[in-house]
Amino acid sequence: MIVLTEIKDVREHLRAERFAAAKEGRELQIGFVPTMGYLHEGHASLLRSARMDNDLVVLSIFVNPIQFGPNEDFDRYPRDSDKDMALAKREGVDIVFLPSVDEMYPQPTKTRILVSELTDHLCGATRPGHFDGVTTVVGKLLHIVAPHRAYFGQKDAQQVAVVTQMVIDLNMDVEIVPCPIVREEDGLALSSRNVYLTPEERQAALVLSRSLRQAEQMAREREGATVAHILQELVRTIESEPAASLDYAEIRSFPSLASLPGSMRAKEAEGKLLIAIAVKFGTTRLIDNVILTMEGEK
Ligand code: AMP
Repeated sequence: MIVLTEIKDVREHLRAERFAAAKEGRELQIGFVPTMGYLHEGHASLLRSARMDNDLVVLSIFVNPIQFGPNEDFDRYPRDSDKDMALAKREGVDIVFLPSVDEMYPQPTKTRILVSELTDHLCGATRPGHFDGVTTVVGKLLHIVAPHRAYFGQKDAQQVAVVTQMVIDLNMDVEIVPCPIVREEDGLALSSRNVYLTPEERQAALVLSRSLRQAEQMAREREGATVAHILQELVRTIESEPAASLDYAEIRSFPSLASLPGSMRAKEAEGKLLIAIAVKFGTTRLIDNVILTMEGEK
């Protein structure tokens, strides 16, 4: 495994690898996993998928300042380079790209990638500018690495929808591969931010997965359950946890993120339904979701 901090070194190294493969008459398949580090088993699952599908795996670790709002946790975002390197090695990563902020954003920068509409709702509404930061950095990283496939967790379902749209709209030659959410045994979705939680908040945070499981069950099993009805129950469950402060709870179609009429029965929905929540525990904001494939029963 090699660790590179400069864009030109990543490009040079990948060029040499591609050239060597081409000389043997094969096209080198590159898999890419962009992260902000403080790696856990959720990240590991992305790396494993990338390892299975590709000849070479590139992992980037970069806490991207432009996707954080002024009052968010950029400065205190957890970092542990030694642990990250050990996990990357264990998962068979070939190249770790670990750029500095100056390397990614030599001043002054004047260009942003901005995906409209899909970024208006959910986390886009409560974190203004967040997705412009995400698409800008992911666009830059995809240009630098030029992978065949890039792996993203369904944990950030809106991010998957937004990045997929960007790749389509900008004719980027890469396949976006969504990967399922990895959870702790008790249901809490793994997140680098879980480390912020006090033991009491950690316990309270189980309301995320619990309320989503209930909502899923209602949508699948309760004949007349409407979108509004499921949402009402979801909010009620979250609000029954005193340590939880609701940011949003929404049901939308996926990946269009189109809103659904409250009067629609969940069972009538056709295609994928996204049930997404964001909840604060103290100063820690956590997100979780479930995506259901519905049959459009009349
Ligand atoms: P982050 O380092 O939090 O920016 O996450 C990097 C990638 O890992 C993103 O595509 C996330 O969606 C994904 N990821 C984070 N947590 C999980 C999880 N619990 N399960 C699956 N993927 C995850």
